[in-house]
Formats: sequence, structure tokens, C-alpha cells
Amino acid sequence: MIRSIKRFLTTLLLVAGCTLLLFCASSSRVRNFSWFRYIYSQHSSVDLPVATSLEQCAAAPFVMPTSGWIGIVYGDSILGTQNHSGLDIFGLEGNGVTPVYAAYDGYLTRLPEWTSAVIIRHPQDPLEPDRQIWSFYTHMADEAGHSYIINQIPPGTFELPVKQGTLLGYQGDYNGQSWRSIDTHLHFSLVLDDGYGKFLNETDIANTIDPSPYLGMRLNTHCADRPPVCRPDYTCSPLDLGS
Ligand SMILES: [Zn+2]
Repeated sequence: MIRSIKRFLTTLLLVAGCTLLLFCASSSRVRNFSWFRYIYSQHSSVDLPVATSLEQCAAAPFVMPTSGWIGIVYGDSILGTQNHSGLDIFGLEGNGVTPVYAAYDGYLTRLPEWTSAVIIRHPQDPLEPDRQIWSFYTHMADEAGHSYIINQIPPGTFELPVKQGTLLGYQGDYNGQSWRSIDTHLHFSLVLDDGYGKFLNETDIANTIDPSPYLGMRLNTHCADRPPVCRPDYTCSPLDLGS
């Protein structure tokens, strides 16, 4: 009898959970759902893995492009649906406040339709000099589409030379047409070239690179230090990778 009541209650909970998920997924925009706030609440009692903009670890070629809590690292799952292709760094100061800088010298492009994003071409990967790579920076606008990218980088900018540490804009919470509301942060990723001088689609993790060796920190979901720290052994060991 007790067992069947338990089973009934479990089924009821499952149905309620599924209904809630379906409701969330079907509404055009769920303003009060925040993945970041959920993660933050899970970790807020421990040391915050705070990054400092322009910080550079010994021997690492790139500088940290912004300041904040590195809440989501390379390869983390978001809503269980995808592998995260970069780092999400949450400035915790609200929109339009926390500066975003170029992580490395290169040539910047902002496509005409880009509200909150820029991409920088690095003709020579400092770690693999035979290839060209790109660094991508997004969410630099508010929810309504007011851009926080500096005026000197208007939509349609093409191949603008920038230096490591050049100010690009400020963190925001713009998330395009997505139903999912987000908190103010920078999404930063390293993107592979298609071999013909164009960047690949960075939303697919297969087209991106683990930023750990470029920043000199363990920033891969398999072995990330939380909080991340500069360390010479910044790549995951085979044990961490489960091989
Ligand atoms: Zn992200």
C-alpha cells in the first residue's frame, strides 16, 4: 500500500515537473528564470572564482578579457542540451558597467547584423603558429538591444586592427531571440578558422578551442579549478578526461 502511494506521488511529481518544463519552454520569454542565479546560489557560500580583466598568467599569451565570476566554463552543459563553447564571465555589477577588452592583438570584425558581438581574427595562433584563430565576445547589449559596444566599433566594422587590452565595450544581458533570459555577463570563446579565412559557427563546441592554455588556467569542465587560478599545468590530465 505504502509502496503504491510512493509510486503515485513520484509519478505526480514527474508529471508536474514535465508540465513546468514544457510551460517554460513554450513561453516566448521566461524573465524570472535565471540559470546563472541558480548556479550562483549553489556556489555563493564558497570562494567566488573571480577573474580580473587584463590579468595575464605567466607564459599565457592572452589576457583575461573582462572581470567577474567565471560561472560557466568550457564544456559545461547549459540546460543539459549543449556543450558550452566558451567562458561565461559574470561581472556582478549590472549592465553597461564592466569593461570588455581584446584578449590578444588582431583584426576586429562586427557584422552589420551583430547587436552585441564582435570577433577578432588572430592571423597566427600564438600556440599553434601554423593556423589562424578567432576570439569571440558577445552579450554586450541590454535585453532591448541597446548596444554597449563602443561607438568606434559600429555594426559593419571590418578588419579593424586592435591591440591586446583594447576596450571593446561593456557586459550586458542581450540574448537575441532566445526565450531564455540571462544575467549580465561576457561570453568569450576561441573559434577555429574554416581554412579559407572565415570563422566557423562558434555555437558548436566542435568549432571552438579550449581556452585553458591561452589563459594559463584550468577552464575546461573536466578539470576546472573553481575558482580558476594561474598554473603551469593548465590542461586536463588523461585521468581527468576519463581516459
Ligand atoms: Zn556562454
